Amino acid sequence: MLINLALWALPGIVIIVIALRTLLFKADIPDIPADISSSPDVQTAARHLGEAVQFRTISHDIPELTDWNEFTKFQKWIAETYPLVESRLKKTTVGNFTLIYHWEGSDSQLDPILLTAHQDVVPPGDEESWKYPPFSGTVSEDGYLWGRGTLDIKIQMISLLETVEHLLQRHFSPKRSIYLTFGHDEEVGGKDGAAAASAYYQERGIRFAFLLDEGGAVADNMISGFSLPFAAVGVAEKGYLDLELSCSQKGGHSSMPPTRTALGYVSRAVARLEKRQFPLSLTAVPREMFKRIGPFMPFYYRIILANLWLFKPLFLLILAGGGAGNAMVRTTTAPTMAAGSDAPNVMPSFASVVVNFRLMTGSSPEAAEKRVGKVIRQDREPIAVKRLMANTPSKVSPADCREFTLLSRTILQIFPGSVVSPYLMLGGTDAVKYQNVCSRIYRFCPYHVDASELDRIHACDERISLDNISKSVSFFTQLIENLENSL
Ligand SMILES: [Zn+2]
Repeated sequence: MLINLALWALPGIVIIVIALRTLLFKADIPDIPADISSSPDVQTAARHLGEAVQFRTISHDIPELTDWNEFTKFQKWIAETYPLVESRLKKTTVGNFTLIYHWEGSDSQLDPILLTAHQDVVPPGDEESWKYPPFSGTVSEDGYLWGRGTLDIKIQMISLLETVEHLLQRHFSPKRSIYLTFGHDEEVGGKDGAAAASAYYQERGIRFAFLLDEGGAVADNMISGFSLPFAAVGVAEKGYLDLELSCSQKGGHSSMPPTRTALGYVSRAVARLEKRQFPLSLTAVPREMFKRIGPFMPFYYRIILANLWLFKPLFLLILAGGGAGNAMVRTTTAPTMAAGSDAPNVMPSFASVVVNFRLMTGSSPEAAEKRVGKVIRQDREPIAVKRLMANTPSKVSPADCREFTLLSRTILQIFPGSVVSPYLMLGGTDAVKYQNVCSRIYRFCPYHVDASELDRIHACDERISLDNISKSVSFFTQLIENLENSL
């Protein structure tokens, strides 16, 4: 009788718990006014960014294809444009073109911080299809500066240089040492630039209190149901794996094909991989992100997010619907390149496909490769698997420490009304190269954009608003001033 009663009462209790948790799932956006003694001049910063864009610092996979002369000219321009940075900071070049600046602090007991960006950009694609030439640095009447690198990421580099130059003009000297590092090959993996810089720091026993690199931004309408500006600070990056799946079979004339061809075997492997996707999991970083943004979402999302103890499987299924949500909760599978024969009537003796995987936090290229072998039934099918490139997922930087709080505070000062949250970067940056010298690595670009602006990165018509140039220089000025007081 008693058990029967408890069974009847259970749904009622569950509903009450769900309702209470939903009602208590609240958060405020702190209102912290900006507090900068004086900001660099925006017109000057915009003019300098416009000039910086004119250097064609395009990096290529094959270093011989890169026009290093452009980097030399760019660095000469930096030295001339920022005379105090040039004369008062200690400059070192590593990996031939990566720049390191050391602004010595007055208190050598404090761990330094590292602020990074990269000098290189991706190729412009078809220059004719740009509204304004990609290396012109044109300012349009509606208040945008156009060109390759304006968002990714000469803005960060120029903002840092403007800020430091401005602070030096005002005889500011930091307590804590500040290092600036500007890589030269981030867009092609950072293996010569950031890797050399990180080795430089490691050899000298330099460890950083925290590092800030490019990454997330303040973005509008990036998450369905979330309408406030979302300040996404990358605290981790997914890993990377390219596998080539190939099959060798008898080729020949296509008028007498066998039942299974090389291309058929490879196609079957791809079909199996697409059908049996990697499992879904809500790891710590996305979980924390939804915890922070959840209170600002519509009621039906709040019910789910406040009660993940019950609704996690449902929530994972919603996210798995595709795009960024799916990429946040599983290792993704993307077949990218395929090869067979060169003629319609010739069966290939060798067929191959490259599949690109982006690995979840906590997994590894080895584990992913093992699973792929099982899914494609490598023990039974004549498929060879070759690893082309692999990066382990990054470590996760904490979001509950003084350094993250300092960063959040600075973001709220310059971008009031935004919701700051850690997030998992789906792409890669140079930052991961510094894991040996820093355990608090954050990835954030101080500009406020929407999806249509972000779509221009690595594409046509990349541009930045003058307002964002102003925000970016104010952010770094505020950050360095905050460092004096709060860390
Ligand atoms: Zn970049």
